[in-house]
Amino acid sequence: SYRKGGYHAVRLGDSFNGGRYIAQRKLGWGQFSTVWLAYDVQSSRYVALKIMKSAAQFAQAALHEIEVLSAIADGDPSNGKCVVRLVDHFKHAGPNGQHLCMVLEFLGDSLLRLIKYNRYKGLELNKVREICKCILIGLDYLHRELGIIHTDLKLENILLISTIDPAKDPIKSGLIPILERPEGNPNGGVTMSIIEKKLKRRARRAVARISEGRDSMGGAGDRLKLERYLDGIDMRCKVVDFGNACWDSKQFAEEIQTRQYRAPEVILRSGYSFSVDMWSFACIAFELATGEMMFTPKGGQGFTEDEDHLALMMELLGKMPRKIAIGGACSKDYFDRHGDLKRIRRLKYWSLDRLLVDKYKFSETDALEFAEFLSPLLDFAPEKRPTAQQCLQHPWINFRNVTLNKAKSESSIEKVAVGVSKLQIKRTTHHLT
Ligand code: ATP
Ligand code: MG
Ligand code: MG
Repeated sequence: SYRKGGYHAVRLGDSFNGGRYIAQRKLGWGQFSTVWLAYDVQSSRYVALKIMKSAAQFAQAALHEIEVLSAIADGDPSNGKCVVRLVDHFKHAGPNGQHLCMVLEFLGDSLLRLIKYNRYKGLELNKVREICKCILIGLDYLHRELGIIHTDLKLENILLISTIDPAKDPIKSGLIPILERPEGNPNGGVTMSIIEKKLKRRARRAVARISEGRDSMGGAGDRLKLERYLDGIDMRCKVVDFGNACWDSKQFAEEIQTRQYRAPEVILRSGYSFSVDMWSFACIAFELATGEMMFTPKGGQGFTEDEDHLALMMELLGKMPRKIAIGGACSKDYFDRHGDLKRIRRLKYWSLDRLLVDKYKFSETDALEFAEFLSPLLDFAPEKRPTAQQCLQHPWINFRNVTLNKAKSESSIEKVAVGVSKLQIKRTTHHLT
């Protein structure tokens, strides 16, 4: 891809925009760009420099992204709305052509890495709550104030706010020590994975940092020190990657969103609005709390990925109302006129709160409260889903050591179990594995 029309090759120390930005190290890359940690000589700060591929279609995409990011920056002068900030943009001529470059505030690890480093276990609910609050502040701003739909919300596109000063730790900056609850024997008699090696190194560094000064615990064990250190980390984050964002009044694509986070109206082609982001948001919240994706559809013998996806949704959320099921431009591909899936006949229902208790070992109370927060966001009727603004008012988001009446929680649980058909066995209904 480092050829004409493709990526721009960068050497550490290269300078950009007339010497203002100096490349430090690579932060990441995507389909369209490479992203670099750079030092901004003018403001004496570190920034993320996103250098787009040079071909016309990438330049076009970059101009769109810059337009969206500029609107976001203009509407939020104090930079408090949990959305990444565009600092500058310019063109850079290189051997592969002209590259549009965006200068963004420097952020930390993505939530995907957070979950990976946590070994795909769910995060503590209080941390999930803090992260959800940030995402909702960002979405409320985008939706209500700017009329922008992100259309590609997922763990990768939410970055933690870096708490390490790159000037002090230039190599590891951006990698926030995020190890939580280190349990068991990490070596376990088998070869350590790269992630485990990183975890160990991070743990050692974090412990070293604490012992250097701020530690007032004297002879307490490293484990305790590490846990205390990690407990204090402020889980704040920002929404990034506006390459696919659109205005509600000016949409570009019919097929939007990454598969697992895609709302039913997108699959059915019934038209969409801000509430597609709320669907993805619920998928993200579930994934943070459980460590697993809410829906992982797969095509199989006699049914497509889309059909499996719709079936998984209904198994968790109940049958889709007929009017909605048959109301989309593509409904006929999946549903008969009664609103039943044509090729997946027997569904195994499993309510969200039972799933949280039975598979993910939530307490009854935690499960019920979390399900009460998530379920309305997963309404098949997009207009019934709460807005980000409404979610910010929800008791679950503002929860402070309130315990729910247990008797009440247990009485309202309903469980529907249906026999497993042969067809069913071929499908991997994720919550039954
Ligand atoms: P995609 O294929 O996902 O659309 P893209 O080319 O649009 O990719 P981004 O997703 O914006 O690129 O960025 C690629 C990677 O660079 C991100 O996943 C992240 O790891 C890193 N990155 C992007 N922006 C920042 C930032 N502001 N601070 C730190 N790292 C960043
Ligand atoms: Mg991305
Ligand atoms: Mg992008």
